[in-house]
Amino acid sequence: MDRVVLVRYGELGLKGKNRPFFEQKLMDHMRRATAELGRPWIRKTYGRFFVTFREGQADPGRLDQVIGRLQRVFGIVGLSPAVRVPLDLDAIYRAAERVVTEHLAVLGRRDGEVPFKVRGHRANKQFPHTSMDLNRLVGAYLLRQVPGLKVDVHRPEIEVAVEVREDAAYCYSRDLPGPGGLPVGSSGRALLLLSGGIDSPVAGWMGLKRGLDLDAVHFHSFPFTSERSLEKVEDLCRVLATWSGGVTLHVVHFTEVQRAIQQAGPPELGITLMRRMMVRIAERIARREKLLALVTGESLGQVASQTLESIGVIEAVTALPVLRPLIGLDKAEIVRLAERIGTLDISNRPYEDCCALFVPRHPSTRPRSQAVEAAEAALDVEALVQGAVERTETLRPEPGPPA
Ligand code: ATP
Ligand code: MG
Repeated sequence: MDRVVLVRYGELGLKGKNRPFFEQKLMDHMRRATAELGRPWIRKTYGRFFVTFREGQADPGRLDQVIGRLQRVFGIVGLSPAVRVPLDLDAIYRAAERVVTEHLAVLGRRDGEVPFKVRGHRANKQFPHTSMDLNRLVGAYLLRQVPGLKVDVHRPEIEVAVEVREDAAYCYSRDLPGPGGLPVGSSGRALLLLSGGIDSPVAGWMGLKRGLDLDAVHFHSFPFTSERSLEKVEDLCRVLATWSGGVTLHVVHFTEVQRAIQQAGPPELGITLMRRMMVRIAERIARREKLLALVTGESLGQVASQTLESIGVIEAVTALPVLRPLIGLDKAEIVRLAERIGTLDISNRPYEDCCALFVPRHPSTRPRSQAVEAAEAALDVEALVQGAVERTETLRPEPGPPA
């Protein structure tokens, strides 16, 4: 009796000629995500993946760990822990019994009987028992052997799949959700503007979910922002990396640029000027690293810099596409996602963000590009951008829980 995890993927199937490319990427990510857990064997058949363990290697703890890791691999829609046995009815009985017993344990103690049914599928026509036979025989066996069950083919709570294939029979009943989406890297590479706030890590996660591979850029204003605020951003990268495999972090030392802006501009345009500099520097880094878009955590209407006028004036300085995955979400939805992703507690740490400095009492919510350009005329934009890019440090935080 072998332990396997059956992995279903969704949208990948729609990709026509690209399908092998997507499947290979998905396979690579599954291998990467489970590498530390004894390198289980992964192969593809019948339009899904099977993750296999040798007997003895697959104690339930390890199985759960592997499933946990795979639940962070984009492209996977569902996962079922399964048992594989030779093509033999007695072996199938025992497999079904094990699957159901474990499923009942997961459901916990209950009053009354749990409704179940068997869904037999004989793909291998050499096998002497038909799908209908399997339903009947395995169902009757389970009723005899496992206490606490009753048959209900219309509303089963446990549906035991018995699939008879060429090489073996597979039994499973639980269907755990995967994250969906597309394998990281299958949609290209982009640069995430990552602050220490709640929004941008979630925006990054949504980009990863749609198959982007991300680098991150963070603007850091030491000594106005502390080392702790940089640690916070590194920790955010570590958590994002558990979803993607790795996030390269470019840290831009931004103090000089901020000082120049403070001296040059009218205070109410400070934020707009600062954002435009951020976007220019980010674009420069993106081009150097061959990244094709910028990703931000902007939403509409949250703060002064997130009016359409403001977004327009800020975006005007780059020719790269600027993706804003949060545009359709409410704050409460973003917070829920941050919690699920594992970034919320880190984002909630108190340390200053560089944007919190130099914040005027009355930021302009509808900056006009003429006024902004006039203010920028007092700055040596190119020298500031180039200097900041040159002073950028590159880090590669290890995937894992926050330090
Ligand atoms: P967040 O929660 O992501 O900080 P926010 O709601 O605070 O977003 P803003 O402060 O207007 O919104 O920032 C908008 C976006 O600009 C952020 O989501 C992020 O993508 C980018 N950004 C802001 N500050 C920084 C920074 N210090 N380094 C990198 N990117 C930043
Ligand atoms: Mg912020």
